[in-house]
Parts: sequence; C-alpha cells; structure tokens
Amino acid sequence: MKKLIGLLAMFGMLLAFAVHPNVYAKSDTVPGGPSTEGKTSINSIITYEEMIKKLEIIEATSKGKIEVFTLDDYGTSESGNSIYVAKAGDGEKKIWVQAQIHGDEKLTTEAALQLLKTFASNGTSDIKTILNEATIYVIPMYNPDGSILNKRQTYLVDQDRYLDLNRDWAEDKFEAKESRVVYEYWTDLKPDFAVDLHHQGFKTVYGTNESTSFSLGISLAPDGPTLPGIKDGLYNTITKQMQAYVYDSMIDYGYTHIDQYQVGGGDEKYFIDIRGGVVSAMMLGTNYNNLNDDGHSNPAIFFETKGNTREGNLGQKSNGYLTKQNYQALKSLLYGIATDEIYGVDPDRWDDIPAYPSAGYLTDYETSGY
Ligand SMILES: [Zn+2]
Repeated sequence: MKKLIGLLAMFGMLLAFAVHPNVYAKSDTVPGGPSTEGKTSINSIITYEEMIKKLEIIEATSKGKIEVFTLDDYGTSESGNSIYVAKAGDGEKKIWVQAQIHGDEKLTTEAALQLLKTFASNGTSDIKTILNEATIYVIPMYNPDGSILNKRQTYLVDQDRYLDLNRDWAEDKFEAKESRVVYEYWTDLKPDFAVDLHHQGFKTVYGTNESTSFSLGISLAPDGPTLPGIKDGLYNTITKQMQAYVYDSMIDYGYTHIDQYQVGGGDEKYFIDIRGGVVSAMMLGTNYNNLNDDGHSNPAIFFETKGNTREGNLGQKSNGYLTKQNYQALKSLLYGIATDEIYGVDPDRWDDIPAYPSAGYLTDYETSGY
C-alpha cells in the first residue's frame, strides 16, 4: 500500500512542485530590484518586454498565420501587466500551451516563442498538419510579475505577500488576478488538451549517474488517488499515452535523459497529486463562481526541464540545448495530438519511462479517506 503524505510535511524540498518556505523581504517586491537568489546570469534570458517585442515580430512576419493578443478584456496581472496569448492554426482541436507560470522558469518561454516562430515561417508537412488539424493557443508567459521579479510566485499587491499561481486554481480560491483572468479565458475557450511547461531542480535518472535533462509528468499522478476517477479513467489513459508518445519521439533526439516527474531527495521519490494546480483543475473541471457550470475539462501533461534561475543551476552553456529539447518535445506532442497518433500508444508503455520506486503521493489536500 502506497503511503500518502501531506504537502506541509514535505517542507524544504527544492523541487519545482514543492513549497518554498522562504521568507521574502519587502525590497524583493521592487521590479528590477535585486531578487536573483542563485548565481545564474539571466542577462541572456528573455524578459517580459523582450517577449512582447518578439511576439510582435512573429505576428508581423507570419503572413496572418499567427495572431497575438492580450487578455486585458478579462483583466491583468496583480501589478497590471498584460497576459499575452498567441494563436496559431485553424484546425478543430484546441490545444492550450502555457509557459512560465513560475516566473523563474524562463527557458519555457523561449521554447514557446521558438515554436511560434516555426509556425510563422515553416512550411514543412508536419507543421502544416499541426496547423490544419489544430488551433494552438500559447500563453508564453503566464506570470509576467514573477518573471520580472525572477521569482516563482506572483506578488499579491493587496495582501502584501507572494503566491504560487500553480496552487491557486481551486473552486474556493483564485486569490491572484492572474488566476481568475486565465481561468475565465479557459472557460470561454474550452480547450481539448493542455501542456504546461516548467523547470525542475537537479536530479538523476534512476539507476544511473545521468543528470535528468527533462521529465514528463502531470500534477495528478497517473494511477494515483485522483486521476483514475475522472471521466471513467479516460484522462488517466490519455496522459499516459501522451507522455509515452513524447518519450518515444525524443529517444532519437540527441543527448537527452528523460524520466518521469517525481519529487523528493531519496532513493524512493514521490509522485505529485496537487489538485489546486492549473492543469489539475483543468482536468477536474473546476467550477469557480459557476463560471464553468457545464463542467468543461481537458487532459493535460507537463514538461519539466532541468534547472531554474532561482537555484542558480541554469548554465548559459546548456540553455540552447535545453530550450531546443523543450521545443522538440512540444512539437512532437502537438503533432501526436493533431494526427491522433497519441491514441495508438499502449498506455502501459508509460511504465517504460524511467522512474524511481514510488514513495507515495505528495498532495495538497486532506489525505484521510484514501
Ligand atoms: Zn514550475
């Protein structure tokens, strides 16, 4: 019997989905102020302003293939920054791609922009297939305030505290403006699939000395306490198929070390089962303020790229390679969804993605009753 463990008991884990018990000084809230806790130089990494410029160029050179807009009609970030969306393709399947919900996970934005650039310019048959079969909605920087501060969280102006936007999507929450803005857009759009791009701390592939370059996962663990109960297990199956599809497509792609997303420091690691995470809530069909009373939901997975600027373990040398890997995996997944190839994957092949022995599930909810 796998044991369940409460989130609060797991303090101190420096991994992408763990709580950071840091106490932040007020001075950290000054945009552009000294907030880089690690040693990473972020000079070469894209800023919010640069992202806007790049999006404008991509749109202008796309010959109408890419449409860029803000979610200002729904609202802005806590500090008043616009949240941008880029739309590509005109196919039936709506695919949601979000990057940098954590403001110190910056190569995800680079990967999203590279993909948009490809969509704007590239006429290969794979790209044409994706854009004919699907419409892609890319949010390249979900958390502009956090990105400007180089912090994981956003800053709640009224409450004078930081908040992890990937813990805020629950029926009784939506404390941050960003969460409500993006949620309302999601309920209007009603996507069919989502992919969520993150970075994680250092780990090695189980049984090897190889540093994991990329982990595949989802915030409601396949075969875990929650996912098999959604839509009669449909999303449990699809998330496994999507992960196995991406894993297979990356095997031939250069020097990658891919495994399953797990957290913790020991020889056994935890899967996560975080219901207040954005893509978890998408799968659960969260109905905040009755804005989603028809119960829309969609399956999702996430990619976890090595390193982040918070821990200072993102070397400039490897940035290009890590971005390319993210881009490649994203392109593969979109192709697999566009062509329905994902449904041809045996879901049990998910077990072939390397993983540590399970220590159980790290959750954000009461564990009694399981
Ligand atoms: Zn993250």
